[in-house]
Amino acid sequence: MVHPWLHIYKGNLYGGTDWMERKYGWKRDHTGEKKTHFWEKCLKFDLACICLFACLVICGMGKGEAVRESVVSAVKMQAGGGGASGQALQGEGNAEKKKVAITFDDGPHPQYTPEMLAGLKERNVKATFFLLGEEVEKYPELVEQIQEEGHLIGNHSYKHEQLSKLSMDQACAQVTRTNELIYGITGVYPAYLRPPFGDWHQELDCKVNMVEVLWDVDTRDWSIQNHGRIVEKALRDVQENDIILMHDGYETSVTAAMEIIDTLLERGFEFVTVDEMIFD
Ligand SMILES: [Zn+2]
Repeated sequence: MVHPWLHIYKGNLYGGTDWMERKYGWKRDHTGEKKTHFWEKCLKFDLACICLFACLVICGMGKGEAVRESVVSAVKMQAGGGGASGQALQGEGNAEKKKVAITFDDGPHPQYTPEMLAGLKERNVKATFFLLGEEVEKYPELVEQIQEEGHLIGNHSYKHEQLSKLSMDQACAQVTRTNELIYGITGVYPAYLRPPFGDWHQELDCKVNMVEVLWDVDTRDWSIQNHGRIVEKALRDVQENDIILMHDGYETSVTAAMEIIDTLLERGFEFVTVDEMIFD
C-alpha cells in the first residue's frame, strides 16, 4: 500500500489540483478560490521542500521500499522540469493504469512489419511479435529491428502447422528450430510460445522451458481486412489486462492497430508486453 500523501505528490506532478479534487473530493469555496492544504502549499515550493517532504515520508513514516522508490521517482520528475512527455509520466510508479497487451502473429512481413514498427515507435508503445521460423529466416534484419526497438519476441512455430496433428518429434522441431533461429539473430531464446491456431497438445513435451500465450480479444484482422470493422471489434471487446491478437501482414491490420492503440491510450490504457501481463 502506497502512502496516500504520495498520491497527492504524484497527483500534483501528473495533473495538478484537478486530480486531487477528483481523488479526494476537495471543493472550491464561494470565492472560487480552491481551499488549500498545508501539503499542497508545501508542494508549490521548490525542490528543497520536496526533498524535505521525501525525508519525512521515508524516515518518519517508514513505509518501506515502495514508498522510497516512488518518492525518488517523483523528485526526479520534478527536478527534470516540465519537459517530460506524457508517455514518461505514465510510466514507473503509476499503479492506476489499466494494462493491455497487443500482439502480432505470423511475421515478420517485409512490408507491413516495418510499417507497424514505425507506428509503434511514434506512439512509444511496446508490443509482442510471435514470429514464424520460416519468415525469420527470410527477414533476419526485421527480427533484429523488432528487438532493438524494445518489443518482445515470441515463437509462433516454424511453418504455422497445427502442432497437435503432428508427431511429437515434428511438433517439437517446429518449436525448437524457430527458437534457434531467433536466438541466432537476437542472442535471446524466446520464452513465450503461441502455437498456431492456439492448438497445443497437452502431451507434447518438447523439453523447452516456455510459457504458452494465447489471447483474449481476437480481432480476426487477417480475415476481415476492413479497417473500421477490425477497430470496432477490438474496441467493443477489450477489457483491462486483455491480450489482443492481430497480425502484421496486412495494410488494414497496420492502420487498425494504430487506431486501436490511439483510442486505448486516450481511454487511459497502458500497453505492455505479454511478459508483464502474465507475471505482474
Ligand atoms: Zn498465426
